[in-house]
Amino acid sequence: MPDKFKDECGVFGIFGHPEAANMTYLGLYALQHRGQESAGIAASDGEHVRISRAMGYVADTFDGDTLAELPGTCAIGHVRYSTAGESKLANAQPILIDCAHGQIALCHNGNLVNARELRDELVQQGSIFQSTSDTEVVLHLYARSKARSSEDAIVESVSQVRGAFSLVMLTRDRLVAVRDPHGFRPLAIGRLGDAVVVCSETCAMDLIGATYERDVEPGEVFVVSAEGTRSIKPFPPAPSSQCIFEHVYFARPDSYVFGRSVNEVRTNLGRILAREQPVHADVVVPVPDSGVCAAMGYAEESGVPLRMGLIRNHYVGRTFIQPQASIRHFGVKVKLNPVRSILGGQRVVLVDDSIVRGTTSRKIVRMVRAAGAREVHVRISCPPTISPCFYGVDTPRRADLIAATHTLEEIREFLEADSVQYLSLEGLLSGVAPESNAYCSSCYTGRYPVEFPRDEARYLQLALKLDKGEAVTR
Ligand code: SF4
Repeated sequence: MPDKFKDECGVFGIFGHPEAANMTYLGLYALQHRGQESAGIAASDGEHVRISRAMGYVADTFDGDTLAELPGTCAIGHVRYSTAGESKLANAQPILIDCAHGQIALCHNGNLVNARELRDELVQQGSIFQSTSDTEVVLHLYARSKARSSEDAIVESVSQVRGAFSLVMLTRDRLVAVRDPHGFRPLAIGRLGDAVVVCSETCAMDLIGATYERDVEPGEVFVVSAEGTRSIKPFPPAPSSQCIFEHVYFARPDSYVFGRSVNEVRTNLGRILAREQPVHADVVVPVPDSGVCAAMGYAEESGVPLRMGLIRNHYVGRTFIQPQASIRHFGVKVKLNPVRSILGGQRVVLVDDSIVRGTTSRKIVRMVRAAGAREVHVRISCPPTISPCFYGVDTPRRADLIAATHTLEEIREFLEADSVQYLSLEGLLSGVAPESNAYCSSCYTGRYPVEFPRDEARYLQLALKLDKGEAVTR
């Protein structure tokens, strides 16, 4: 059971580069943190779009031979963590189809809130789906479109879906990037020489030496072809709802997301947290890696020294063989080890980016105390997480979010900490973007910017009633 919100997916695309598939491989490599279940690349040589997909990490999925089978100067790629649809190869992306408009491959980061409704209608009209992924709906709408050009068919199909979508598509001769009108998920545009690059986070551009230019705007359809680039704005304007959790946790700190440095934002959140929730302490210790930037900001603002009192093992795989003999704190110890010389006898401020279920946080507090800490004060660089996400992030059901069902004092007791405090919502919003209200913060407020039709609405209502004892599975 995950004790963190799980990253969603990462998308990458490049147009006009002689090594398009290789560049896409590297781009996906840099975006691996956004999804580890499957990886795929589609490439076009101007005549045919070819595809390669597999379950697993990017480095395990592709080698020189598989990339050589993806010739052409345009390519798109995807790393997936399933937020809708099962974890299996049929749901891996890109999804490639051949229809009256020609071949098209599609990568999606996000979650469509009306996918089930559209899918039911399409099935009634005779469509046969290959996967359980919500993304396939877009391709069925595309294939059925009577529009005269593939570009118009793309615009027509994306205009019918709702929710969170950053899409990258590849036809025989063009690359199309689309961001939903609310702009939930990031999508950046850059250049590598004459080639145009689009990707979820700028860290993918850094690896291949591309330069970040701007974001695909919310509601923009960005088309790249041999004639150059152009923008289409087919959607009615909508309030911007960029995912604030990208800045809190998902994105790599070396990325720019929504035009802002993730590292700077996280450090700033730590500074604000120190002002809002000071504590008498000897050391500030981050929970690595996610709490590091905020801890640096907390230490800088409070004047309490930052020390790396927990060391992370970066080489832990997805599974490990647990010994039969019981070892104290084994599960968390495999990933983190306390440094006794730093923690012994100290009053510790333990800084992390979020608490989801609380079970991992409790293990870490116990571990820090067992290493000799005199006091453990937990400080969290975002507000209490009280509601699930329906826009492309895998979250536990509401009943399993500790802040949805416990008071602050109950959380402190559960974690066995001396104190627990969170950043305020005002602090978070001012730390991310003082001059703008362009962010979604539904997981902290329970107020959702995009409504859910039919089944989804029923599901959402049930989910929000969980504190009355109803059980819902996603
Ligand atoms: S609900 Fe939370 S995780 Fe989901 S899009 Fe909004 S801010 Fe991001």
